Amino acid sequence: MTPPLAIYYRDDMAPADSPTNYSKSPTKPRRFLEYLHNTPLWQHLEVRADFAPLTRDQLLLAHKPEYVDAFLAGEPRWQAESNGLAWTPPFRDSVLLTNACLLAAIAAAVANPQVIAMAPVSGFHHARPSSGSGFCTFSGQVIAGLELYRQRGLRGAWIDLDGHFGNSIEDSREFAADLDIAIARGLNINPGGRHADYLADLQQNLLFLTERAAAGEVDYICVAHGADSHEWDQLGNQCTTAEWLEAANLTYAALAEIRALQPRVGVALALFGGYRDDHPPSVLGLHAMDTARALVLLGGVQELEGFMAEVRPA
Ligand SMILES: [Zn+2]
Repeated sequence: MTPPLAIYYRDDMAPADSPTNYSKSPTKPRRFLEYLHNTPLWQHLEVRADFAPLTRDQLLLAHKPEYVDAFLAGEPRWQAESNGLAWTPPFRDSVLLTNACLLAAIAAAVANPQVIAMAPVSGFHHARPSSGSGFCTFSGQVIAGLELYRQRGLRGAWIDLDGHFGNSIEDSREFAADLDIAIARGLNINPGGRHADYLADLQQNLLFLTERAAAGEVDYICVAHGADSHEWDQLGNQCTTAEWLEAANLTYAALAEIRALQPRVGVALALFGGYRDDHPPSVLGLHAMDTARALVLLGGVQELEGFMAEVRPA
């Protein structure tokens, strides 16, 4: 039987930790898989490594050639490091793989909507056509969205529950006019406010998404539940633990409703931010709790219900 969760992962996606980088996100794919290995989630997933690094042409879907070439070559350094992360050849190679991983997971979600596809990656949603920004190098969401629309006519939506507004998609609409079809305006969902206001805004947006999906206007939905929307995160402030988990419950319940209406809609997950150098397992634990909710509410894996209450951030 096919496991209900497919995680797209290659060891070379995660370079060695750089002592000078504030963000530990580049190594999060490896640390997240190690974390999952010690949880009951592990028996419900398979790891897939069948994807190749993005090409220069794919990067050019969302970026200006000057920026793409500077990052590929590592110079000029100010441009190659406009993401705020130290440039090294292994880091460059990992960025080409994390962006490819996101595209592979979304394509797999569309190809087999019965399976939830996951790209355990971060580092996309602040990038702009001509530079990186805020630990984000390339606009993986925009690259994947345009590739899937231009090659196959697919239209997507994002539920971006990272603590920071995902500006990549909005900042790329002028650069690529057909992004308005690939990821329609209003379907780059980033709830605003804090606590009850945040959850109310999320619910409002999920209703809008459900209407659009019911009308057949959405082929895939991506969820990125960044752990930096938790109030104890060093760069976050929106949600208590209970509220953060409730955001996951609301999201996957809405996706289950959408899939009952439109079974062909694929669902892909990504990680996005999370910054707790005082207690890194809290970030991984939150991501695991979110993934468990996807498996229970969307994948029908009842036996993980107990696990959903187990992990608590410290
Ligand atoms: Zn963030």
